[in-house]
Amino acid sequence: MAATVHHVSPDLYLIVLAPPISGFQNFIGAWLMVGPDAVFLVDVGPAATADQLVEAIAALGVDCLDYICLTHIHIDHAGAVGHMARQFPGTPVVCHPKGAPHIIDPERLWQGTVKTLGETGRAYGPMLPVDPSRIASEEQLASAPFQLLDTPGHSPHHYAIAAGDYLFAGEAGGVCLPLPSGDRYLRPATPPRFFLETSLSSIDRIMATRPKALCYGHFGLQPDGMNMLARHREQLLFWKNTLAVEAAGGGLAADDNINRWVDLLLKADPQLHGFSQLSPEVQVRERGFLSNSVKGFAGYLARLERNDNQTDE
Ligand SMILES: [Zn+2]
Repeated sequence: MAATVHHVSPDLYLIVLAPPISGFQNFIGAWLMVGPDAVFLVDVGPAATADQLVEAIAALGVDCLDYICLTHIHIDHAGAVGHMARQFPGTPVVCHPKGAPHIIDPERLWQGTVKTLGETGRAYGPMLPVDPSRIASEEQLASAPFQLLDTPGHSPHHYAIAAGDYLFAGEAGGVCLPLPSGDRYLRPATPPRFFLETSLSSIDRIMATRPKALCYGHFGLQPDGMNMLARHREQLLFWKNTLAVEAAGGGLAADDNINRWVDLLLKADPQLHGFSQLSPEVQVRERGFLSNSVKGFAGYLARLERNDNQTDE
């Protein structure tokens, strides 16, 4: 299957990768920046779609990459990194120092993914290891035409990447889906263990660079980056306040509570209002991610009640 490629601006392509999972056809992608100073990838998608990515890059006439960058090492973003490192043998791989051990020896990451995601995890496909010599050196990074912003929250090993007018946000700004109405559906990506203050500081760190276009890990480019980040920041606080009232009743994180809270947020959170415009398969996918994000908040609020919200990262 060939990847769809969107030429989103003169120097930027979004290569849409389609893993064999229902509802995931317009959700995972790789950004290819063909800038005046360098050609680089941001995220590579799962191993299962490595061939789609390689073919799409070749079809664009690009035969050399200066960097392969990863926003974080979740398998839907980084799964194909070993395949891409083999395909482009001279290209340094840029990833967070806390993530590097997991791409050098991906076995634990793979086992963890299968354990948490089951069939979906297996459909992403197992990763190939990256040789430690391939991790970008300080010197290679010093001359890079992008800036790496340490942005933990969605994961402890997360970078947002600023390059010119673009900010590649990974999942530090949540997940944003364009809607047929022209509005956007915006959803927190806050799986356990989640620390609200860490995520808010990361958003602030991104906003301090005053980005123009925000390039989401999921999905696509939004030209009003600052507005979207402000919306997301407000959304995280709205979730905290809404769920804190609910959690005060006790019984935190029981599964029936999580479902009830997802329904509550779908009604109350204006950023989620586009949910009804999503296709049935995408609604199923989103409900799964919403539950996981609500679980992250439930854990955070439970620790807050116990006065035990030290980050362990
Ligand atoms: Zn992720």
